[in-house]
Amino acid sequence: MARDRGAQCKQCRREGVKLFLKGERCLTDKCGVERRSYPPGEHGRGRAKQSEYRLQLREKQKARRYYGVLERQFRSYYQRASRQPGVTGENLLRLLESRFDNVLVRLGFATSRRQARQLILHGHWTINGRRVDVPSYQVRPDEVIAIKAGSGASQTIRDATELTSAVPAWLQADHDGLTAKVLRHPERVEIDTPVQEQLIVELYSK
Ligand code: SF4
Repeated sequence: MARDRGAQCKQCRREGVKLFLKGERCLTDKCGVERRSYPPGEHGRGRAKQSEYRLQLREKQKARRYYGVLERQFRSYYQRASRQPGVTGENLLRLLESRFDNVLVRLGFATSRRQARQLILHGHWTINGRRVDVPSYQVRPDEVIAIKAGSGASQTIRDATELTSAVPAWLQADHDGLTAKVLRHPERVEIDTPVQEQLIVELYSK
């Protein structure tokens, strides 16, 4: 599976926000953004010129990195969002938010999207009783997510649940049974992401 291999903390420092790419470490004072709150590289501390295009581009990169999606895949999410009824930016975030790997993080079953992807790819999860090993799978209302019977990852997943205090209202999680249910699609206000989607729409609409 293709993925973004750039150093994770550098990605956060480039975008100037915590993208929570490293799981538990992101919650400690070892976080790269906490320690060095300026962009990486030789000119990191210099003042970058802020054009409209630059702002839009950075917002798109931020969203892409936050959800761990490559450029081509991200554009295809945008095209899909623009064909759907409603507000394109919100549709885009809803599609990204409904990815199986993101949903596992929201449910507290993984500490990062990278860890969630690994658990999915290694076949530790089922949806409606069938193994699903595709991290980009779009979850749908009424689907039941559960750890695969006999999975060797249950302790790792239980450890992850210890770090989660709240699950969004569109999902329902049972941290003891390691199961969950998708109640409905997320509303925009329920999508906790540091992204201004309108800037991405402006970028792609040029
Ligand atoms: Fe980003 Fe986490 Fe690294 Fe902090 S520790 S810079 S949030 S990946």
